[in-house]
Amino acid sequence: MERVVVVGAGAMGAGIAFVAARGGYGVDLVDTDPSARDRAMERVRRDAVRAGDESIVQRVRPLSAVPVTGDAILAIEAVPERSDLKRSVLASLAAALGPGTPIASNTSSLSVTDLAGAVPHPDRVLGLHFFNPPAAMKLVEVVRAQLTSDAALDAALAFVDRIGKTAVVAEDTPGFIVNRVARPFYLQSMRALDRGIATVAELDALARGAGFRMGPFELMDLIGLDVNLATSESVYERTHAARLAPLAMQREMVAQGRLGRKASAGGFYEYRDGDYARFTPEPHALDESAAESERIAVVGFGNAAAELVELLGRRFDDVQHVERDDLLDELDVETTIAIDAGDGTSDRGDVVASLDGLLGPETVILVDAYATALGPCAARMRHPGRLIGYGILGSLEAQSVVEVVDSDAASDEALALAQELFGALDRAVVLVEDVPGLFLGRTVGSIVNEAMIAVQEGVACADDVDVAMRLGTNYPVGPIAWGREIGGARISRVLRALAAAEGEEFGPHRSLWLLDADDEESADPIPEPSVAPTLPG
Ligand code: NAD
Repeated sequence: MERVVVVGAGAMGAGIAFVAARGGYGVDLVDTDPSARDRAMERVRRDAVRAGDESIVQRVRPLSAVPVTGDAILAIEAVPERSDLKRSVLASLAAALGPGTPIASNTSSLSVTDLAGAVPHPDRVLGLHFFNPPAAMKLVEVVRAQLTSDAALDAALAFVDRIGKTAVVAEDTPGFIVNRVARPFYLQSMRALDRGIATVAELDALARGAGFRMGPFELMDLIGLDVNLATSESVYERTHAARLAPLAMQREMVAQGRLGRKASAGGFYEYRDGDYARFTPEPHALDESAAESERIAVVGFGNAAAELVELLGRRFDDVQHVERDDLLDELDVETTIAIDAGDGTSDRGDVVASLDGLLGPETVILVDAYATALGPCAARMRHPGRLIGYGILGSLEAQSVVEVVDSDAASDEALALAQELFGALDRAVVLVEDVPGLFLGRTVGSIVNEAMIAVQEGVACADDVDVAMRLGTNYPVGPIAWGREIGGARISRVLRALAAAEGEEFGPHRSLWLLDADDEESADPIPEPSVAPTLPG
């Protein structure tokens, strides 16, 4: 039986020992604290019972010190996240194990290359970043440090494969893939909350409605605001990227002890016996007579317009599609609701102004608020009260909740009709304030942007980034695939507006356009221009 050594038998070490033993390895599980060893063996036993294979327990041997052994095929340290401690553990592993045995660190935030410096042959050191709890989470980030040898990397990949996990190779950069690409989910959500876009519960509902398993605030409460802040701090300290800077809000909450579920003070929510005020909006009911009486026109071309025409056509008797802006005069003058879906990337102020002129004052006009600036658009209208902004990221298919802008100018009647219209499509509505990118546009857009920056920086390839985010954070779809669905130009537009309002650091990365290229592989790095040799003239 091949053996692995796991040092540190805490939450992660115990879980890693279990998955290794389940995969058929003998495990030496080392912890200096006897009570930690007992707790860890108890956990291994419990997990083994749950897995229906109690022989797993026999394969784990608790030890108080690293054994001097030549036969281990791999060692993994999972001691607390302190550089000095990890370096000394790595050094003692290097001294105790055979010279060829790869040594891995489960660090989430330290530089593996730095840690490897504590070992005489740093080429044997790499990162194996498991996710919590290791028994359940499929993903392992395999981190290649500057000097990691191919042999060490291959051995680690074979180990991950044998324990039934999915490996993605990541370069040794702050936050690796998952902890870095996930940052904007939290940071942009808190910025949105800070701007008063909607309440915590409404923003969480919007995120779940877009496919995230949990909203950002309930998730931060579950993770612990202190843990989440520490990850943000460490990624920020090592990247100095202004877009990833932690917010005063989270620092203050941590200082006040509002750490989330685990704290009596709660976090973003208050908890009573684990319960909190989760909000799930229901679609508005549509009056059946409205299905017959409303006359609907969809203006614009592209997938979003086509999808709206299709879905509305199933619910309403009278749906007209005007694909070209120069054919607006073909619009039925009796239209009661006009929805402009544009092309998804350009401001539709001109078209809305034309619609305002052509259609009777009662007609409600909906416009895609991710692409069109509502304020200037309303300012050009004779009847600005009828203008309603809405946000559909890529496809309504993937969204059960739609954000609709509750602007100062919008009339209550127009807002109510917009809610019923989406209700007729079985979509709930959350009303939000008019800020660039609204909530989902800014948040999902910034996640896609971060993923593209990571790919461009060579942290991992596009496919691996997508796999990592699906398995490591349960995103409904990988951020790069999601970006392709929404469109790079559309995301760029949202982020440009966000940057104009909140700072250049939030602007779109130049590589976003690659998402619109036809070639599936094209999210991978923009090739460096080849420099033609020049002869002295
Ligand atoms: P933990 O505090 O639960 O466990 C650490 C264990 O290491 C303790 O049992 C402690 O007694 C033991 N230990 C301390 N010094 C030791 C030594 N010199 N030799 C042997 N054992 C020693 O910590 P954790 O949450 O399991 O985290 C461990 C590592 O995993 C950290 O680097 C952390 O960043 C990383 N990580 C944690 C999570 C998570 O969600 N908890 C997720 C991914 C990675």
